[in-house]
Amino acid sequence: MTRAPAGGRIGLMQSAPPPSSGYAAISLHLDSMGYAYGWPRGFQDPVFHEVLDRFENLARWYDLKYTVQVIGRDLLQSEHSRRVRRLADAGHEIGNHTWSHHSGLAGLNRRWLEGEIIETHYRIAEVIGREPRGFTAPAWNYSERASEILLRRGYRYDASLLPSMTGYPVMLENALANLHRPWRMWRSIHRRDWAAGFRAPREPFLRNGLVILPVPTTPGRIATAVWHGYGRIFGWKRHFNALRQTLAARRYFYYVVHPSDLCCDGDLDGNPGRARFGGNFYRKARLLSDAFAIISDSGKRMTTLLGMSEVVRQEIEHKPQVIAA
Ligand SMILES: [Zn+2]
Repeated sequence: MTRAPAGGRIGLMQSAPPPSSGYAAISLHLDSMGYAYGWPRGFQDPVFHEVLDRFENLARWYDLKYTVQVIGRDLLQSEHSRRVRRLADAGHEIGNHTWSHHSGLAGLNRRWLEGEIIETHYRIAEVIGREPRGFTAPAWNYSERASEILLRRGYRYDASLLPSMTGYPVMLENALANLHRPWRMWRSIHRRDWAAGFRAPREPFLRNGLVILPVPTTPGRIATAVWHGYGRIFGWKRHFNALRQTLAARRYFYYVVHPSDLCCDGDLDGNPGRARFGGNFYRKARLLSDAFAIISDSGKRMTTLLGMSEVVRQEIEHKPQVIAA
């Protein structure tokens, strides 16, 4: 499945073994339909049934383990908990994606923020039998206060930083999708990290012992974030080119996918859904499979976000120090 890393000079590289070109992971943000609909009573959420089946099939096909970012409140249903335990037992990493998928995390008071993280932390621990070690804030609303809470609970990484201006159209789309729920719309706007797109580091780094894994972006000045949903917004051809370019340029790459990437019209069952949950199943399955094939063929070693964060930590801690003369 491996091919020569992009940019290599074929004539010179032919007999040499392909150099290690880094690490890749797939981060599945398990944003449920229950969450999108406001958790209606008695709702049978296809995300925790047939949609997860499809993701598991893809994982088997490409022989990879996901990092699954779980919303704590979804685990109140025992069926959902059983499903998440099964994922953990199969070797997928389970991460913390807050209790209510609050998209304005950085604007919360300390108690509320702590509740969002810690309630989910213990619920996941109860369900899978071990404490989660990774966190991703909904809507990439990064905050140093959240990082401090994570550190105290023994977390190893925070994947909440979006160092790209191209995140703004997605945030705007999220806000508009919640026009009928003004409190959710307000949350998406009241995020306090609007400047991150302009000045945040684009490579992983250590902050007070916590590895920060920024969302991978294309190389160059206009760093476009690269996750699967962008294909829908900017066009698939352009997106897959950006994906190849980013894989070649970044030593650490992870690809964010959502249940909506494999949901289709048949899953909506007459419910008025957000547009992103609908669509033709075969087309969606082909697009996601194509993306996985590109990642799998990139020559990168597949891992989880936790595995990646440990390599980043080791590399940073053992980097030879430059001693000033
Ligand atoms: Zn999410």
